[in-house]
Amino acid sequence: MKLVKHIANLGYGSRKQVAALFREGRITDAAGEVLYADDSLDHDSIRIDGEPLDPAPGLLLMLHKPVGYTCSTKDPGRIVYDLLPSRFRLRNPLLSPVGRLDRDTSGLLLFTDDGALLHRIISPKARIEKDYEVTLAQDLRGDEADLFASGTLQLESDTTPLAPARLQVHDARHATLTLTEGRYHQVRRMFAATGNHVQALHRSRIGGVALGNLPAGHWQTIDGAAPFAT
Ligand code: URA
Repeated sequence: MKLVKHIANLGYGSRKQVAALFREGRITDAAGEVLYADDSLDHDSIRIDGEPLDPAPGLLLMLHKPVGYTCSTKDPGRIVYDLLPSRFRLRNPLLSPVGRLDRDTSGLLLFTDDGALLHRIISPKARIEKDYEVTLAQDLRGDEADLFASGTLQLESDTTPLAPARLQVHDARHATLTLTEGRYHQVRRMFAATGNHVQALHRSRIGGVALGNLPAGHWQTIDGAAPFAT
């Protein structure tokens, strides 16, 4: 692919705007040699104003989503894209969140521009585990772990029962729930079905990717798709 198209696809501007960057001599190789719009060169060797390009297509990144941000691009309030470089919204192929978290949920949110990878991660058939740290408004009853593990719980307005899920209880109001599917408001609805209310919800892991110590509002790339290899 010609450099001008490659760089425009990364969201640095329209092809016309990127062509202007070439004419101004702002696009160089790693040694500072000026490059031309029609050149083709390895992504890692290209610099704009001396800075390496944003990550190449095939990107997988993790964001620590704070409470108060939505995963929709249409929300007039704060959205998760506000926490990424603005260019990332203009990338082609599109960089999309892998599944969604509610506005009031914090924690691990993945983004990718690889459609096949996205479907692999969210597909219930792939049974990729997601850990949710749950804080409850009322004490647990004691039978929740068995109920969630049974694979018989059917939520209102769902047509099929939930897949078995694992509940690890830490104390009367704190637990880790591990799911392998991602239905609408699933964690909140599961606890509502037991007469409880989720006060705070935080996703700490998706498959082989844990949020770790990444501070709220920060993001980082994940090398390759290895954590979700088939
Ligand atoms: N389950 C929920 O209820 N909310 C989320 O954000 C994620 C899982």
